[in-house]
Amino acid sequence: MNIEQIRADFPILSETVYGKPLVYLDNGATTQKPECVVRELERIYYTTNANVHRGVHRLSQQATDLAEVARVVVQQFINAPSSREVIFTRGTTESINLVAHSFCQQFCKEGDEIIVSEMEHHANIVSWQLQETIRGIKLRVIPINEKGELQLDELEKLISAKTRLISVTHVSNVLGTINPIEKIIEIAHRNDIPVLIDAAQSIQHLTVDVQKLDCDFLVFSGHKVYGPNGVGVLYGKEKWLEQMPPYQGGGEMIKQVSFKGTTFNELPFKFEAGTPDYPGVIALATAINYIKKIGLDSIKAYEDQLLEYCTDKLTDIEGMRIYGTSGQKCSVISFLVGNIHHYDMGMLLDKMGIAVRTGHHCAQPLMDVLGIEGTVRASFAFYNTKEEIDKLIDGVKRVVGMFK
Ligand code: PLP
Repeated sequence: MNIEQIRADFPILSETVYGKPLVYLDNGATTQKPECVVRELERIYYTTNANVHRGVHRLSQQATDLAEVARVVVQQFINAPSSREVIFTRGTTESINLVAHSFCQQFCKEGDEIIVSEMEHHANIVSWQLQETIRGIKLRVIPINEKGELQLDELEKLISAKTRLISVTHVSNVLGTINPIEKIIEIAHRNDIPVLIDAAQSIQHLTVDVQKLDCDFLVFSGHKVYGPNGVGVLYGKEKWLEQMPPYQGGGEMIKQVSFKGTTFNELPFKFEAGTPDYPGVIALATAINYIKKIGLDSIKAYEDQLLEYCTDKLTDIEGMRIYGTSGQKCSVISFLVGNIHHYDMGMLLDKMGIAVRTGHHCAQPLMDVLGIEGTVRASFAFYNTKEEIDKLIDGVKRVVGMFK
């Protein structure tokens, strides 16, 4: 990987913050966009902007073609059997809400259970809690061990005749743990239970093959994979999506509307009510093509080096506590030092030009399990460098010095 060349593709990385070169280590929250993605958005708005699937005129047909090509790019990226199984949404959150709403409406009755884990993002907790209120379902929770790994023996105990779905994250946005989703899917399917994989923190780091995994649903956000904000993906097996009722009503999701009754469009459009963010969808395909060119294997190998380098250097700092010490991790380190509040650490690092995330990371139940309020989180992308990690380490040491 030619990092210098890669960094040149991301103009924002040359920005300064308080007169210092930006060190952007908040990639778990959102990734920066390569110039080709921003240019593609610009190109669509300047040359090809027209509503999709609605017009016979040339611009509308061009925009429609590009958006449908983008669907195929996503399909191939995750190796979905059919583009009918790729639904565009606003992001991971909307994708999970869609499944929670429509799956539960079709398949869940009062007392039925959905299994999640202690390390889920709020999107994969609250979406189901809403269904607890609406439909009387219950959430069961897979615990984690002291390394921040899922306790799979406990999962087996949680499964019962009432279990309707297991919904877990592939990679924890706090601990960085890569969960053994192949094993989880195997256990679930042995019990005839479908599985939703939250790939918000894995799709940008690991090769994801939905056929190999045999997952039933998989969700991710465009903005975390170097694409635009406001666009995301839901992959679902056709056998489930066909049976699930629409999530929202409106244009494009219908076949025929009358006051006597309405029939719905076929997949994937049944789940895409209203005007989609087609420029976003098209630019998401540009982002995917960009990272495919670099190669996810090279990305993972390089990011693993950054993770190891940073972990080693942080560990040397007195009073350092790293949250998430699994042998299977990717691109995320959460930590606290001594009694220094995570906000203080984050604000002082910011003054040095270093952007990290602080707080509960939308994982308050996990914070409760860890017995803390929040952490400082550094999360890496393939455009980060060891020199930037050195700056982080120096910065953390300086803050520690200030609090001595
Ligand atoms: N799931 C995980 C694991 C995440 O890390 C995030 C965002 O940080 C989400 C879900 C929600 O993603 P979005 O806000 O893009 O919908």
